[in-house]
Amino acid sequence: MTKSKITRDTVRKLDQADHLNKFRNEFYLKEEHYYMDGNSLGLLSKRAEHTLLTALQDWKNHGIEGWTEGEQPWFYMSEKLGEMTAPLIGAKPHEVINTGSITTNLHQLLATFFKPDNQRTKILADELNFPSDIYAIKSQLELHGLDPADHLLQVESEDGYTLSEEDIITEMSEDIALLLLPSVLYRSGQLVDIEKITKAAHEKGIIVGFDLAHSIGALPHQLNEWGVDFAVWCTYKYLNSGPGGVGGLFVHEKHTGRKPGLAGWFSSNKEKQFDMGHTLIPAENAGAYQIGTPHIMSSAPLLGSLELFHEAGIESVREKSLQLTRLMMNLIHQELYDCGLKIANPLEDQHRGGHVSLIHPEAASICKALKDENVVPDFRSPNVIRLAPIALYTSFEDVYEVMFILKDIIMNEKHKQYKNERGIIA
Ligand SMILES: *Cc1c(COP(=O)(O)O)cnc(C)c1O
Repeated sequence: MTKSKITRDTVRKLDQADHLNKFRNEFYLKEEHYYMDGNSLGLLSKRAEHTLLTALQDWKNHGIEGWTEGEQPWFYMSEKLGEMTAPLIGAKPHEVINTGSITTNLHQLLATFFKPDNQRTKILADELNFPSDIYAIKSQLELHGLDPADHLLQVESEDGYTLSEEDIITEMSEDIALLLLPSVLYRSGQLVDIEKITKAAHEKGIIVGFDLAHSIGALPHQLNEWGVDFAVWCTYKYLNSGPGGVGGLFVHEKHTGRKPGLAGWFSSNKEKQFDMGHTLIPAENAGAYQIGTPHIMSSAPLLGSLELFHEAGIESVREKSLQLTRLMMNLIHQELYDCGLKIANPLEDQHRGGHVSLIHPEAASICKALKDENVVPDFRSPNVIRLAPIALYTSFEDVYEVMFILKDIIMNEKHKQYKNERGIIA
């Protein structure tokens, strides 16, 4: 593809040969609109809409009996979602539960796994992670009376966009209790080698957690086989569960029986929960890390959404996603080479996630101009434009269109009429 010139004809042929193309009809897409922000908030599918409406119908028809008698019984929905998610991350069904949000799940699992002792008191993370993860780590350290300035180590990035796996491994010292990293970095889209990092950390006796926010639904994982201790993720990004959709967590089966750091009645063994005893008998699976009543209306859309992933298969999703981002990068080389854009994501397939990350000093105003041309990009302050073509609903021709719209904006300085500042949500 890099050799010969990419034309509209090339991309149309790619669309014709694409066996995931049929999934486009499953989503609510607007004509002549190009949605490149599915890594921040995925679009609504008809299936997700249907399972949400079914949850409402169950409430309407059954009242309280909806917990057990509904078409999608609420009492078992989190476990059912966990089971459906397991193949996306290479987990066993009992290792996964859908509950909370990334940040609350992280609090739960840090409370569960971070047990500082005389020797190990530190948490290792990186300086490029999403702020919420770092806030959670700092508050958990403080709850143990440990000063984050001394007990949180953040691996530094040389270029400001990517991390060196060697640097991470070098930081794994004897006083570190736990390591938390993103699987895919939210700005640059770098995919970290989870297996390699986990192995190295375990050799040093360090517990390993990963935040899969930018990899779940974009690429396959083998969490059980790799021995990752725990993981957290959200489902409103690549999994298209809707704004505030329920989060998820994984706890490796080797930790079965570990007491939840933050307990609540939904941590219970389901048979015992309604005994209402004051001594918790935790579930013997990842369900033990739930706390309170599940948020059914923000869980139900995920039921429908996950059906689509089952039908498509995560391997095929990854294959098309790589093709889409490769096409985008090839078009940047072909058409936008003198537009002042720099590609910040790693170029190799095995090192990049689902989005392309572009650096430009006027990124904010370019993003505003894109929006006015019906392209929805994603801006990350101060200079990053993230573009995420989504395997289930973006066509190769969409990528082609977007690249020419971007070229037209920059070449004709259309972005100069906008302020180069971020909006309230960026
Ligand atoms: C999106 C994202 C979050 C958001 O956390 P919530 O608790 O779901 O609001 C946290 N961490 C990372 C790495 C993210 O990409």
